[in-house]
Amino acid sequence: MKAKLQPHTVPVGRFAPTPSGFLHLGNLFCSLLAWLSAKSKGGRIILRIEDLDPQRCPRQNADVLAKDLEWLGLTWDEGAYVGADSEAYFQSQRSEIYRQYFAKLADQDLVYPCFCSRAELHAAEAPHLSDGRILYAGTCRHLTVAEREAKAKTRRPAYRVQVDDEVVSFVDGHYGLQSYELAKEWGDFIIRRSDGVYAYQLAVTVDDALMGVNQVVRGCDLLSSTPIQIYLYRLLGFTPPEFFHIPLLTAPDGRRLAKRDGDLELGVLRRHFGSPEPILGILAYMAGQLAKPEPVQAEVLLPIFATEKIPKHNIVVPKELLQL
Ligand code: GLU
Repeated sequence: MKAKLQPHTVPVGRFAPTPSGFLHLGNLFCSLLAWLSAKSKGGRIILRIEDLDPQRCPRQNADVLAKDLEWLGLTWDEGAYVGADSEAYFQSQRSEIYRQYFAKLADQDLVYPCFCSRAELHAAEAPHLSDGRILYAGTCRHLTVAEREAKAKTRRPAYRVQVDDEVVSFVDGHYGLQSYELAKEWGDFIIRRSDGVYAYQLAVTVDDALMGVNQVVRGCDLLSSTPIQIYLYRLLGFTPPEFFHIPLLTAPDGRRLAKRDGDLELGVLRRHFGSPEPILGILAYMAGQLAKPEPVQAEVLLPIFATEKIPKHNIVVPKELLQL
């Protein structure tokens, strides 16, 4: 299958942060590039809060995150914290919508309950992929109705969508042609967890499609999720957006920046620099948009923004910055 990506005239991009912590330099990098990609072409930005898992994503984090984006001058036109519709842009409030699209997949006989425990999934003999993910062996795909009923008495199942032997190809705006063999690189994947929470892959596809997002700019850690999202777009009858993946920021030892390590949270940067311009200057320099990391306002970058200057390789954040 070859996904047909539409040439869109007015970009609709999005910020899609998961508020399991505060924004760190890597999230800011992604937000800046998503903003520049849409705004430099007269487009719009939506803010969607990806708080699918309410336990991990308290509302206060989202509040801080929105204020931080605003402080940086990375404005959005629609979404959370805008007008009366704000709540509709929090994934935690959208379960009913995900349920409807889950049902559309189930109607195509592509969804089945999976009763495997974590231990079973992580068993030593389970095939591990190069990035550490485990390829699902399809254990529960062929259970009989009676077997499913028996298992359901003791365990709440997760739900998986079936993938067939199919190659999904797409052209990433930054990394070029990508091809994935779904069955070998993903296998049947989870669209609803056993605790009832809908999975990221389903939610993000449904949301981007329903919100009219036609340009997805995000970290290249999600490049490998793109083929299954394109697969879901097709099953649900949606047109995929353009995908533009960007390099990740890493510490000098190659470790990628992460919220849980508190890597350069915006709060720390704010206290150190006092104003947004020096932070934006560092981000724009790392993104290849400025020759030097000099203070700059976000709007000043709009006329000079050039996607071809964004590096392809991951970007090492200077040690001095990480030690703030
Ligand atoms: N919510 C995800 C994150 O914060 C991003 C998902 C996406 O861009 O598709 O990493």
